[in-house]
Amino acid sequence: MERTEEELVDLTSRVYKLVVERGKDGVLQSEIWKELGLTSRDGSRLAIRLERRGLIGRVKVLEEGRWTYKLTPLRFPTDMASIEKAPCIICQFESKCAIDGEIGPYNCPWIGPWAMKEFRELTQPVAPVTT
Ligand code: SF4
Repeated sequence: MERTEEELVDLTSRVYKLVVERGKDGVLQSEIWKELGLTSRDGSRLAIRLERRGLIGRVKVLEEGRWTYKLTPLRFPTDMASIEKAPCIICQFESKCAIDGEIGPYNCPWIGPWAMKEFRELTQPVAPVTT
């Protein structure tokens, strides 16, 4: 059964979260597919999306005599809430987005403002507590 674009966007975000949660040592993709109930075809499509956006790395590894991929986070969000606000997660141009494409991270109108907002929130001084 074909998944809708909305389902794929939600699953892309969940795959990214799980990869980030496993940390820099990475995780075998089959573990993620099992946890989310994904077929390897759907799972691979989502992993390739995240790889194309530079959010995760996919490295081919030999595991128990079979070739598979290990997924590692390339970028760690400041917190998990910021993943959900990332424009790439809900972007309608995601399938066309590429570094050398017509649209991509370098000319994207959404990624810069989002990154700046996240940075400002992260570096904002905390107001002193007054009693
Ligand atoms: S166009 Fe911008 S928001 Fe969309 S996927 Fe590419 S970088 Fe992300």
